[in-house]
Amino acid sequence: MKNDDKNIRIAIEMAKESKKKGNLPFGCILVNKDGEVVLKGENTINTDNDCLAHAEINLIRKASKIYNYSYLNSCSIYTSDEPCPMCTSAIYWSGIGKLVYGLSKKRYYEIVGRDNPNWVFEMPTRELLEKGGRKLEVIGPLLEEEVSILHLD
Ligand SMILES: [Zn+2]
Repeated sequence: MKNDDKNIRIAIEMAKESKKKGNLPFGCILVNKDGEVVLKGENTINTDNDCLAHAEINLIRKASKIYNYSYLNSCSIYTSDEPCPMCTSAIYWSGIGKLVYGLSKKRYYEIVGRDNPNWVFEMPTRELLEKGGRKLEVIGPLLEEEVSILHLD
């Protein structure tokens, strides 16, 4: 649990990096079974002009070029925020064995609002993953207050 907090805080740092560069404040990291951070991902939708460049997608694209499925299956992804349905699916297809997230999507939308329907896509990660054939361990929400700060302004 202590390590989970530590890793979520690294994902928060990645989210801050994204924000500094003019992107959305979302970040993630990939941690192997020995607890080592092997990859980091940040949101790049603005700087890459790519609406799909969510932090998790960016990380998984890199990861799947470097590592095989069974290695990824022994890894965990830590995300600052509960992943959207696209990223949840990408995590599923990647083979990554475990997901740990910070802020829940429910709390996220309570903070940023639901006024723009184009930005709302609420599907709880666990509900979506239940439809999959393989089972992933999902832990979260964690450190919601710390992640919330990213979305307050
Ligand atoms: Zn996403």
